[in-house]
Amino acid sequence: MSQTLSQMFASTVKAAPDAPFIVLPGGEAMTYGAAAERAGRLANALGELGVGPGDRIAAQIPKCRDALLLYLGAMRAGAVYVPLNTGYTAAELDYFLADARPSVLVCAANAREKLEPSARANGVDHVLTLGPEGEGSLPALALECSPSVSDARRVGDDTAAILYTSGTTGRSKGAMLSHTNLVSNAHTLAEIWRFEASDRLLHALPIYHTHGLFTATNTVMARGASMLLLPGFDAEQVVDALPKTSVFMGVPTYYIRLLQCARLDKASAAGMRLFISGSAPLSPDTHNQFAERTGHAVLERYGMTETNMNTSNPYDGARLAGSVGLPLPGTELRIVDNETGTQCGTGEVGVIEVRGPNVFAGYWGQEGLTAREFRDDGFFVTGDLGRVDESGYVWIEGRLKDLIISGGLNVYPAEIESAIDAIAGVRESAVIGVPHPDFGEGVTAVVACEDDAPLDEGVVASALAAGLAKFKQPKRIYFVETLPRNAMGKIQKTLLRETYRDTYLKD
Ligand code: AMP
Repeated sequence: MSQTLSQMFASTVKAAPDAPFIVLPGGEAMTYGAAAERAGRLANALGELGVGPGDRIAAQIPKCRDALLLYLGAMRAGAVYVPLNTGYTAAELDYFLADARPSVLVCAANAREKLEPSARANGVDHVLTLGPEGEGSLPALALECSPSVSDARRVGDDTAAILYTSGTTGRSKGAMLSHTNLVSNAHTLAEIWRFEASDRLLHALPIYHTHGLFTATNTVMARGASMLLLPGFDAEQVVDALPKTSVFMGVPTYYIRLLQCARLDKASAAGMRLFISGSAPLSPDTHNQFAERTGHAVLERYGMTETNMNTSNPYDGARLAGSVGLPLPGTELRIVDNETGTQCGTGEVGVIEVRGPNVFAGYWGQEGLTAREFRDDGFFVTGDLGRVDESGYVWIEGRLKDLIISGGLNVYPAEIESAIDAIAGVRESAVIGVPHPDFGEGVTAVVACEDDAPLDEGVVASALAAGLAKFKQPKRIYFVETLPRNAMGKIQKTLLRETYRDTYLKD
C-alpha cells in the first residue's frame, strides 16, 4: 500500500526529529520534531472544530511557517486541504467556497469580516484567522490542544488536497490530488534532483500553488532537508540568501528579475547546487544569460496543477535551453494528433498526454468534465502542445487553446515567439490569433522591447520574413511596455486576445 503524506512526514520526523525543517529569514529554525508537534496541535484544533477525514479545510492565508504547518495539520487530521490564492477577492472566494463546500475556512484577520457572509451562505461551519507571525484564532485554539495526535487513517488513493487551476483558460476547476499523487512525485523529484538531508531550499514561491506547496515543500520533506522560508520573492533578498542555501526553485519571472540584480554573479551563487525553473516557459535567452552570469545551467521542468511534475531536464547530462527535458521515471508521456487522435512521430507537434502515479483523479464535482479530459486507457489530455525529439527531450509549443489556425494552417505561437525574441532589442513577446475575415484567425504579435531599444513594426516584420513561412508571419505587430502575467508568471493570452479582438474586423 502506498504511503500517505502524513506517513511520509512521520517517517522523516522519526528518522531525524532534531534536524532543521523550516528556517525563518531571521535565522530561527524549527526542527522536524517541533513541526510535528505544532502540526499535531493544529490537527487536534481541527478535530475540536468537528473536522473529520475527507472534510475540506479552505485556507486563504499569508505565506508563513504556520501556513505550512496547517497543511500538515490538515493531513494529520485526514482532511482535504484547499489552499486559495491570496490575490482572490471576497467575490471570487465565494465561487470557491460554493464549489469546495469546506467545513472550515482559515483566513487573514483583516479579511474575516468580508468573507463571513459568503462562508455562512455556503455552509462553512467555522471561520478562523491565521496571521503571518503565527497569530490569530486558529493558533490560539491550537495552543490549548495537545501536541500529540494519532493520525487519521487514510490510504494512498484518498484525496489529500483540492487545488484550483489558475484559470488562465477559463473558470478554475478543483483538481483532486491523492496522497499517492503527491508522495510519489515528491520521492521521484527528490531522487532525480539528488536532494539530501543537508540541502536547504530557498523558498520564495507562493504556497497556494502546486509549485511552492507540493514541488518545493514535499520534495524537501521527502528527504528530511530544510527550507529557508521567505515571505515572498524579492530579488535582492534572494541574492542575499543564496550563500545560506543550496537549491532554488522559481518561475521564469524570478530569473529575469534576478538577472537585473547586479550583485548576482558567480561568487554569490558559488555555494548553490541547483537552480530549477518551471510553471511557464524559460526563454533560452534567460537560460543562457543566467548560465553566463552564475555558472549554473538552470534545470527546467514541466508540470501542472492536475499532474504534479511530468518531465525534467536531467541532473547529470544536458540541460537543454528551451526544452522541459525527459519524462519522469514512472510517468508515461505521448504526443497525439488533436484531429485524428493518432500518436505523432518524432518531432511532430501534437497534444501532450500523460499517465502515471502523479496524475490526479479528476475534477472535484465534475465527473463529466473529468471523463472528457481522460482517454479510455487512462492518459490525461494536458491541453499543452509539444513534441519529442530524437533524444526523447520534450519541447513545449504552447497551449492547444492558444494554437492559431490561419487560413486552415496550424501556427504554433512558441515558434513565432522565439523568432521574435531573438531579434536584438526585443525583451519578450506573445503571439495570439484573433478573428480575421479571410483567414479565420490572424497571427498577431504583441512585443515588449528593451527600454533602450524601441523597435517598430517594419523592423520586426522584416527580421522575421527571412526565417518564417508567409502564413506564420504576424499580420500585425503591437508594442507594449510589459505583457500581462499572472502571479506565476504566465502570460495571460486570454486578456491579449480580448484587447486585440477587433484588429482585423475594423479594417
Ligand atoms: P499550473 O497548473 O498553474 O501549474 O499551469 C500548468 C501549465 O503551465 C502547463 O499546462 C503548461 O502550459 C505551463 N507550464 C508549466 N511548466 C512549464 C514549462 N517549463 N514550460 C512551458 N510551460 C510550462
